[in-house]
Amino acid sequence: MSWRQRIAEEAQQSYPHECCGILLGKNAPDGKFEVTEIRALPNRIQGEGRGTHFEADPLFLYQVEREIEGSGLEIVGFYHSHPDYEAIPSREDVENMVPGLVYVIISVTREGIADIRSYKNDIKC
Ligand SMILES: [Zn+2]
Repeated sequence: MSWRQRIAEEAQQSYPHECCGILLGKNAPDGKFEVTEIRALPNRIQGEGRGTHFEADPLFLYQVEREIEGSGLEIVGFYHSHPDYEAIPSREDVENMVPGLVYVIISVTREGIADIRSYKNDIKC
């Protein structure tokens, strides 16, 4: 199963809540990227806000950074789902985008995956 299929599956399983995670792999100098592993991030937000908001646990992120240290893997980017919403970055998403990292957004509805789009430096890729 490809990483895109895996995050699509996770988005469907999390529905109607948002899912989020880290893409691990390698960045090529030409701007291309390769994802070899994914790590789901637990959402710190419980209850009502879960469907529309995501807050990653900084400790978990730190643990993943420690884990990949010296492994040759790097954080290529992040993915998250938009339950019942288009695969376009929200204002909050754009504000949080780190230059050079890939952001994959999965649009998911009750019927399944509607769209998957990747963005880098605020541009579709
Ligand atoms: Zn978003």
